Amino acid sequence: MTVRTRVAPSPTGDPHVGTAYIALFNMAFAKSQGGQFLLRIEDTDQARSTPESEQQILDSLRWLGLDWDEGPDAGGPHGPYRQSERREIYDQHANILLEKGHAFRCFCSSERLDELRKEQEVNKSGSGYDGRCLHLSEDDVRAKVAAGESHVIRMKVPAEGKCVVNDMLRGDIEIDWTQVDMQVLVKADGMPTYHLANVVDDHLMEITHVIRGEEWINSAPKHQLLYEYFGWDMPVLCHMPLLRNPDKSKLSKRKNPTSITYYRDAGYLPEALLNYLGRMGWSMPDESEKFSLDAMIENFDIKRVSLGGPIFDQEKLSWLNASWIREDLSTEQFADRLHKWLLNSDYIMKFLPHAQGRVETLADFAPMASFMFSGMLDLSEDDFAHKKLEPVDVKKVLQFTLWRLEQLRQWNKGNIFNEIKTLSKEMGLKLGDFNHPIFVAIAGTPNSWSVMDSMEILGADMTRARLRHAVNVLGGLSKKETKRFDKEFRVLGAEE
Ligand code: GLU
Repeated sequence: MTVRTRVAPSPTGDPHVGTAYIALFNMAFAKSQGGQFLLRIEDTDQARSTPESEQQILDSLRWLGLDWDEGPDAGGPHGPYRQSERREIYDQHANILLEKGHAFRCFCSSERLDELRKEQEVNKSGSGYDGRCLHLSEDDVRAKVAAGESHVIRMKVPAEGKCVVNDMLRGDIEIDWTQVDMQVLVKADGMPTYHLANVVDDHLMEITHVIRGEEWINSAPKHQLLYEYFGWDMPVLCHMPLLRNPDKSKLSKRKNPTSITYYRDAGYLPEALLNYLGRMGWSMPDESEKFSLDAMIENFDIKRVSLGGPIFDQEKLSWLNASWIREDLSTEQFADRLHKWLLNSDYIMKFLPHAQGRVETLADFAPMASFMFSGMLDLSEDDFAHKKLEPVDVKKVLQFTLWRLEQLRQWNKGNIFNEIKTLSKEMGLKLGDFNHPIFVAIAGTPNSWSVMDSMEILGADMTRARLRHAVNVLGGLSKKETKRFDKEFRVLGAEE
């Protein structure tokens, strides 16, 4: 048997370091076994998936050197590798389940399901679908379908007993069937959900080992049941521990940048980032801290993964990065890396016209443009002081801008400007005053060229990371503040 693993990201946001982490372990495992590693795009959530996000995921995994043998761009014998292009396959498989009586059509409206949820909360009477449509007669179902009534397809789940799922690292995991919902497999718009598409694809793509994040453990019983319903062998499951912030909470961008693009642009070497991710819950047999991808593959043993939540600590990553730069690059190679990074005319030309209008001597250029070559800026609370804005307003401007820019689909100057202009109007602030904290957060000073241009050139991930950093410099948001800000922010949006 050839070992085949896959990483299956959903293209719904920044290319996350967690995706790289899972990709790395899948690749290391497959390659250590002489197997294949593939990449599948799970874009069944059409409302949230974007081609930009997909491209960023592919680019950033490639930048890291995690090449796949089969994938949407690489092709391969089991394609297409993008779920949105495989709808017919899922339709056929949903029909098989309906025909075999393992799935049923559910016509319950979202209002009814909301009410059910509320009732269950009040009565503390379990959760999940109550199975009302299980009892519809075949004639009823046919009539409803013929009348074009909107419906979903759900899987049947045993009403009692226990499900035992085996995990490579955790052994047998027992879950009561009563805890498992009658999962929707096909949505009202005809699109499959993650669960159906994932199982069908893993089978058809001949995946032998599913290595994925711990957050999917609860889905395992449903998946196992689907494999049984189809009469297929299930791949071996392996749930990796979740990456954590230094305070042990789940890795979140509020506390740590989580986008691979951020680390690339902030000047980390791909070797160092991979090396660091390789140390998340795993170690070399000789415990060495520094190792290459090839060395990791050569020494890989998945049994060496430890389940205690590995901590993703930027300081440690920086330390490791420094050692890669110092010990593994010749001066020529270092120069080459700088050039490939941002010290090249393609990048500099993007903002050079702005600088040209502002310098007196050539020597003014480097200090003026240093923020275009930086990661997080060295800022203090005083940098944000403004005569017309109260400190709480400054924080609000930064946080609200961040929230708006997090929702922005197309990252360009025009769209960024529109968001900022609208927001300043909604908040009743003059654009000039509103922009002050934005300038400081992005450029480190209010005296820079158009901050919208800078944001466009720096890119979404770096911009958002700097805005988040600025909020943190101002003391961050307490839980209470988050709630209050969130409420105010929503009202602003509603008044548009
Ligand atoms: N699309 C899922 C994700 O975004 C894949 C989970 C899995 O590997 O089964 O993580």
